[in-house]
Amino acid sequence: MFIELTDHLRCPADHPEQYLVLLPERVVERSVIAGRLGCPVCGRTYAVTEGIAELGNALVAPAPEAPLDPMAMHVLLGLTGPGGYAVLVGSAAAAWRGMAEHNPGVALVAVNPPPELPDAAPVLSVVRAPLIPLKTRSTRGVVLGPEFAADPAWVRDAARVTLPGLRVVGQGPSPRMGDLEVLATAEGWWVAAKR
Ligand SMILES: [Zn+2]
Repeated sequence: MFIELTDHLRCPADHPEQYLVLLPERVVERSVIAGRLGCPVCGRTYAVTEGIAELGNALVAPAPEAPLDPMAMHVLLGLTGPGGYAVLVGSAAAAWRGMAEHNPGVALVAVNPPPELPDAAPVLSVVRAPLIPLKTRSTRGVVLGPEFAADPAWVRDAARVTLPGLRVVGQGPSPRMGDLEVLATAEGWWVAAKR
């Protein structure tokens, strides 16, 4: 886990949004290999193990049925220029290498990726959680794999963490949600702007 990602993490527990405090045990360059994340509100602590932040019960995404095209994902997400974070949820994270090549200087966060995906901070941080464990309006965009795009709770959470005017991309039927304006659909994908 990229150590600077700590500033954007939130406790996934069901209470008002709260940051997490990092107690690092092993940090290599800017990557947290082992440590704990603690919540000052509910007192829960979460482990960082082998670079992966384990923030509670997480659905394990399957490997994608067909290889995802990172160029298509990149075009749909529409990021220009370096800086900030983009989030790849579930099997969408399998395309992280191509996304990193197309978006130099953008730190990627894989939420509940397929099990074989290793942490590769600072370029890619891997977290497992029951929701997107990031603060509201903290990221430049989210790509949802089909297993998460089918769940309105995850689409809502993707909209929550995205900065206004930036995009949420998903695979599957396009969502109807007040804070997302669907811009286009193509070949099973939809792209929406956060209002
Ligand atoms: Zn908490």
